[in-house]
Amino acid sequence: MSPPSAAPKLRSLCVFCGSQAGFDPVYVTAATTLGLALAAHGTDLVFGGGRVGLMGALADAVLTGGGKIIGVIPGFLKDKELAHPGATEMLVVPDMHSRKKLMFERSDAFCILPGGMGTLDEMFEIVTWRQLRLHDKPIILVNVANYWADMITLLDGMVRTGFAYSGRHALITVVDQVEAVIGAAEAELKAPKAPDLFKV
Ligand code: AMP
Repeated sequence: MSPPSAAPKLRSLCVFCGSQAGFDPVYVTAATTLGLALAAHGTDLVFGGGRVGLMGALADAVLTGGGKIIGVIPGFLKDKELAHPGATEMLVVPDMHSRKKLMFERSDAFCILPGGMGTLDEMFEIVTWRQLRLHDKPIILVNVANYWADMITLLDGMVRTGFAYSGRHALITVVDQVEAVIGAAEAELKAPKAPDLFKV
Protein backbone atom coordinates (compact mmCIF):
# COMPACT_ATOMS: atom_id res chain seq x y z
CA MET A 1 0.00 0.00 0.00
CA SER A 2 1.41 3.40 -0.91
CA PRO A 3 1.79 5.91 1.94
CA PRO A 4 -0.70 8.78 2.08
CA SER A 5 0.57 11.63 -0.10
CA ALA A 6 2.02 14.56 1.81
CA ALA A 7 0.43 17.99 1.54
CA PRO A 8 2.14 20.09 -1.14
CA LYS A 9 4.61 22.49 0.39
CA LEU A 10 3.63 26.12 0.65
CA ARG A 11 6.59 27.72 -1.15
CA SER A 12 5.33 31.29 -1.08
CA LEU A 13 2.59 33.12 0.78
CA CYS A 14 1.26 36.55 -0.14
CA VAL A 15 0.19 38.44 2.97
CA PHE A 16 -2.09 41.47 2.77
CA CYS A 17 -2.04 43.58 5.92
CA GLY A 18 -2.02 47.11 7.23
CA SER A 19 0.52 49.74 6.35
CA GLN A 20 -0.28 50.90 9.89
CA ALA A 21 0.25 48.81 12.99
CA GLY A 22 -3.06 49.35 14.82
CA PHE A 23 -3.22 50.55 18.42
CA ASP A 24 -3.27 47.18 20.19
CA PRO A 25 0.14 45.44 20.23
CA VAL A 26 -1.64 42.14 19.64
CA TYR A 27 -1.58 42.90 15.89
CA VAL A 28 2.19 43.36 15.67
CA THR A 29 2.65 40.24 17.78
CA ALA A 30 0.52 38.28 15.30
CA ALA A 31 2.46 39.64 12.31
CA THR A 32 5.78 38.81 13.97
CA THR A 33 4.66 35.30 14.90
CA LEU A 34 3.54 34.66 11.33
CA GLY A 35 6.81 35.99 9.92
CA LEU A 36 8.89 33.71 12.12
CA ALA A 37 6.68 30.73 11.24
CA LEU A 38 7.10 31.39 7.50
CA ALA A 39 10.87 31.56 7.84
CA ALA A 40 10.97 28.35 9.89
CA HIS A 41 8.83 26.59 7.29
CA GLY A 42 10.92 27.81 4.34
CA THR A 43 7.98 29.72 2.88
CA ASP A 44 8.87 32.96 1.05
CA LEU A 45 6.85 36.04 1.93
CA VAL A 46 5.33 38.01 -0.95
CA PHE A 47 4.19 41.41 0.32
CA GLY A 48 3.63 45.04 -0.55
CA GLY A 49 7.31 45.85 -0.12
CA GLY A 50 7.02 48.49 2.61
CA ARG A 51 8.72 48.63 5.98
CA VAL A 52 5.88 50.41 7.73
CA GLY A 53 3.08 49.11 9.96
CA LEU A 54 2.16 45.44 10.18
CA MET A 55 3.71 44.90 6.75
CA GLY A 56 7.08 46.03 8.06
CA ALA A 57 6.82 43.99 11.29
CA LEU A 58 5.97 40.89 9.28
CA ALA A 59 8.84 41.39 6.82
CA ASP A 60 11.32 42.08 9.63
CA ALA A 61 10.29 38.87 11.39
CA VAL A 62 10.78 36.75 8.26
CA LEU A 63 14.28 38.19 7.87
CA THR A 64 15.04 37.67 11.57
CA GLY A 65 14.09 34.02 11.12
CA GLY A 66 16.40 33.71 8.12
CA GLY A 67 13.62 33.62 5.51
CA LYS A 68 13.11 35.42 2.20
CA ILE A 69 10.92 38.43 1.49
CA ILE A 70 9.76 39.47 -1.96
CA GLY A 71 8.40 42.99 -2.11
CA VAL A 72 6.19 44.24 -4.93
CA ILE A 73 5.85 48.00 -4.87
CA PRO A 74 4.69 50.61 -7.35
CA GLY A 75 7.32 53.27 -8.03
CA PHE A 76 5.13 56.06 -6.66
CA LEU A 77 4.84 54.30 -3.26
CA LYS A 78 8.53 53.55 -2.80
CA ASP A 79 9.07 56.61 -0.63
CA LYS A 80 5.64 56.81 0.99
CA GLU A 81 5.61 53.21 2.24
CA LEU A 82 9.42 53.17 2.63
CA ALA A 83 10.53 50.26 0.48
CA HIS A 84 12.10 47.66 2.77
CA PRO A 85 15.89 47.91 2.48
CA GLY A 86 16.43 44.25 3.43
CA ALA A 87 14.19 42.71 0.77
CA THR A 88 15.55 39.57 -0.84
CA GLU A 89 13.90 40.82 -4.04
CA MET A 90 12.21 44.19 -4.56
CA LEU A 91 10.08 44.27 -7.68
CA VAL A 92 9.19 47.83 -8.66
CA VAL A 93 6.10 47.99 -10.85
CA PRO A 94 4.45 50.87 -12.70
CA ASP A 95 1.06 50.86 -10.96
CA MET A 96 -1.31 49.22 -8.46
CA HIS A 97 -2.81 46.84 -11.01
CA SER A 98 0.61 45.49 -11.98
CA ARG A 99 1.38 45.10 -8.29
CA LYS A 100 -1.68 42.95 -7.63
CA LYS A 101 -1.08 40.84 -10.72
CA LEU A 102 2.54 40.16 -9.85
CA MET A 103 1.73 39.43 -6.20
CA PHE A 104 -0.86 36.97 -7.45
CA GLU A 105 1.53 35.27 -9.87
CA ARG A 106 4.35 34.91 -7.33
CA SER A 107 2.21 33.30 -4.58
CA ASP A 108 0.90 29.82 -3.83
CA ALA A 109 -1.71 31.16 -1.39
CA PHE A 110 -2.94 34.36 0.30
CA CYS A 111 -3.30 35.43 3.88
CA ILE A 112 -5.06 38.46 5.28
CA LEU A 113 -4.06 39.98 8.60
CA PRO A 114 -5.72 43.06 10.10
CA GLY A 115 -5.46 46.14 7.94
CA GLY A 116 -7.35 49.07 6.50
CA MET A 117 -8.90 49.94 3.19
CA GLY A 118 -5.89 48.94 1.09
CA THR A 119 -5.94 45.51 2.72
CA LEU A 120 -9.67 45.18 2.02
CA ASP A 121 -9.18 46.14 -1.61
CA GLU A 122 -6.42 43.58 -2.06
CA MET A 123 -8.39 40.88 -0.28
CA PHE A 124 -11.64 41.36 -2.20
CA GLU A 125 -9.89 41.40 -5.54
CA ILE A 126 -8.30 38.03 -4.88
CA VAL A 127 -11.56 36.65 -3.41
CA THR A 128 -13.64 37.80 -6.37
CA TRP A 129 -11.10 36.41 -8.84
CA ARG A 130 -11.57 33.08 -7.08
CA GLN A 131 -15.35 33.45 -7.21
CA LEU A 132 -14.98 33.94 -10.97
CA ARG A 133 -12.81 30.81 -11.03
CA LEU A 134 -9.83 32.70 -12.36
CA HIS A 135 -7.76 30.84 -9.77
CA ASP A 136 -8.12 28.37 -6.95
CA LYS A 137 -5.39 29.41 -4.56
CA PRO A 138 -6.16 29.23 -0.82
CA ILE A 139 -7.20 32.47 0.90
CA ILE A 140 -6.72 32.43 4.67
CA LEU A 141 -8.28 35.22 6.71
CA VAL A 142 -6.77 35.55 10.19
CA ASN A 143 -9.33 36.91 12.62
CA VAL A 144 -6.72 38.24 15.07
CA ALA A 145 -8.45 39.32 18.31
CA ASN A 146 -11.75 39.12 16.41
CA TYR A 147 -10.68 42.08 14.22
CA TRP A 148 -12.66 40.85 11.19
CA ALA A 149 -15.87 39.95 13.10
CA ASP A 150 -17.98 42.71 11.55
CA MET A 151 -16.81 41.85 8.04
CA ILE A 152 -17.56 38.15 8.58
CA THR A 153 -21.05 39.15 9.76
CA LEU A 154 -21.47 41.26 6.63
CA LEU A 155 -20.37 38.36 4.38
CA ASP A 156 -22.80 36.01 6.13
CA GLY A 157 -25.51 38.64 5.70
CA MET A 158 -24.82 38.71 1.93
CA VAL A 159 -25.50 34.98 1.81
CA ARG A 160 -28.64 35.32 3.96
CA THR A 161 -30.07 38.08 1.80
CA GLY A 162 -29.27 36.42 -1.51
CA PHE A 163 -26.34 38.53 -2.68
CA ALA A 164 -23.65 35.88 -2.29
CA TYR A 165 -23.56 32.11 -2.60
CA SER A 166 -23.11 30.14 0.59
CA GLY A 167 -19.94 29.01 -1.14
CA ARG A 168 -18.25 32.03 0.44
CA HIS A 169 -17.11 29.53 3.05
CA ALA A 170 -15.18 27.81 0.30
CA LEU A 171 -13.72 31.08 -0.95
CA ILE A 172 -12.25 32.22 2.36
CA THR A 173 -10.94 30.05 5.18
CA VAL A 174 -11.13 31.84 8.51
CA VAL A 175 -8.68 30.99 11.30
CA ASP A 176 -8.32 32.69 14.67
CA GLN A 177 -4.59 32.28 15.17
CA VAL A 178 -1.65 32.94 12.88
CA GLU A 179 -0.21 29.59 14.00
CA ALA A 180 -2.95 27.91 11.91
CA VAL A 181 -2.15 29.69 8.63
CA ILE A 182 0.46 27.40 7.08
CA GLY A 183 -1.45 24.22 7.95
CA ALA A 184 -4.71 25.62 6.60
CA ALA A 185 -3.09 26.71 3.34
CA GLU A 186 -1.32 23.40 2.81
CA ALA A 187 -4.49 21.43 3.58
CA GLU A 188 -6.27 23.38 0.86
CA LEU A 189 -3.42 22.97 -1.62
CA LYS A 190 -3.80 19.24 -1.08
CA ALA A 191 -7.60 19.26 -1.41
CA PRO A 192 -8.68 22.25 -3.56
CA LYS A 193 -12.09 23.65 -2.69
CA ALA A 194 -13.14 24.89 -6.13
CA PRO A 195 -15.78 22.22 -6.83
CA ASP A 196 -17.78 23.55 -3.87
CA LEU A 197 -17.57 27.21 -4.72
CA PHE A 198 -21.04 27.66 -6.12
CA LYS A 199 -23.02 25.20 -4.02
CA VAL A 200 -26.04 26.85 -2.43
P1 AMP B 1 -3.92 49.71 4.34
O1 AMP B 1 -4.61 48.43 4.72
O2 AMP B 1 -4.87 50.79 3.90
O3 AMP B 1 -2.93 50.16 5.37
O4 AMP B 1 -3.08 49.35 3.04
C1 AMP B 1 -2.33 48.17 3.00
C2 AMP B 1 -1.64 48.03 1.69
O5 AMP B 1 -2.60 48.08 0.65
C3 AMP B 1 -0.63 49.12 1.39
O6 AMP B 1 0.56 48.49 0.96
C4 AMP B 1 -1.23 49.89 0.25
O7 AMP B 1 -0.25 50.30 -0.68
C5 AMP B 1 -2.12 48.89 -0.39
N1 AMP B 1 -3.24 49.55 -1.04
C6 AMP B 1 -3.80 50.73 -0.73
N2 AMP B 1 -4.80 51.03 -1.60
C7 AMP B 1 -4.86 50.02 -2.48
C8 AMP B 1 -5.65 49.73 -3.62
N3 AMP B 1 -6.61 50.54 -4.04
N4 AMP B 1 -5.41 48.58 -4.28
C9 AMP B 1 -4.45 47.74 -3.85
N5 AMP B 1 -3.68 47.94 -2.81
C10 AMP B 1 -3.86 49.07 -2.11
